[in-house]
Amino acid sequence: MKYVILMGAPGAGKGTQARLLQEALNLPQVASGDLFRHNLKNQTELGRLAQSYMDKGELVPDDVTIAMIRERLSISDCVNGAILDGFPRTLSQAVALDALLAEFNGRICAVPFIRVETDVLVARLLKRAEIEGRADDNEETIQNRMTVYHRQTAPLIDYYREKGVLVEIDGDQPIEQVQQELLHAIECAAE
Ligand code: ADP
Repeated sequence: MKYVILMGAPGAGKGTQARLLQEALNLPQVASGDLFRHNLKNQTELGRLAQSYMDKGELVPDDVTIAMIRERLSISDCVNGAILDGFPRTLSQAVALDALLAEFNGRICAVPFIRVETDVLVARLLKRAEIEGRADDNEETIQNRMTVYHRQTAPLIDYYREKGVLVEIDGDQPIEQVQQELLHAIECAAE
C-alpha cells in the first residue's frame, strides 16, 4: 500500500493536483476538507460538529478527524493506498497516521510540499471565494487559516523532511507544470 501525502498551505493547489494525480497513480484522493463538507451537506452529527470550526478557519479536533480518516482509509477503494490531501494537519494527526499505516502495512511513498508565497495564496483564495462561494473563503477566515497553518501544520514539513520523504515543488507555476513535477517526484520516490 502506497500513500502520497500532499502538503501545502490553504490555496497551494493540493486539491487540484490530487484530483489530477488520482488517475495517473490509480489511487483515490482522500481530502479531509471534502469529507467534512460532505458531512456538513448531509447534516450528519460529524458535519454539525465540524461546521463551527470550519466557519472560523480553526481545525476540527484531532480525535474526530483521525477517526474519520481511519474509517475512510478502511474502505476497499483504498486497498492499494491513497493520495492524502489536507490530512495530516497537526503533529498528533501525523503520529496517528504513522500508527494507522503500520497497522495497514502501508508506507509513505512521498510527501510533496507544494510551496507558494503567502500573498499569492491569499489572492488565489479570494478569487476562489468569488467563483465557488465557499463559506470559509472570506478575508477574515482566510487570515485565520493561514495563521493556523503556520502554527499547527508547517511543523510537519520538518517532521517529514527528517523521515527523508519530503520533496519540495514550486507551486507558483502552471497547473500542468506542477503536475509533471509532482509525478516525477513521486515516481522517483517510488522506485
Ligand atoms: P484549505 O486547505 O483550503 O484550508 P480544506 O478544504 O482542506 O481547505 O479544509 C477546510 C476546513 O476543514 C479547515 O479549515 C478545517 O476547519 C477543516 N479541516 C480539514 N482538514 C482537517 C484536518 N486534517 N484536521 C482538522 N481540521 C481539518
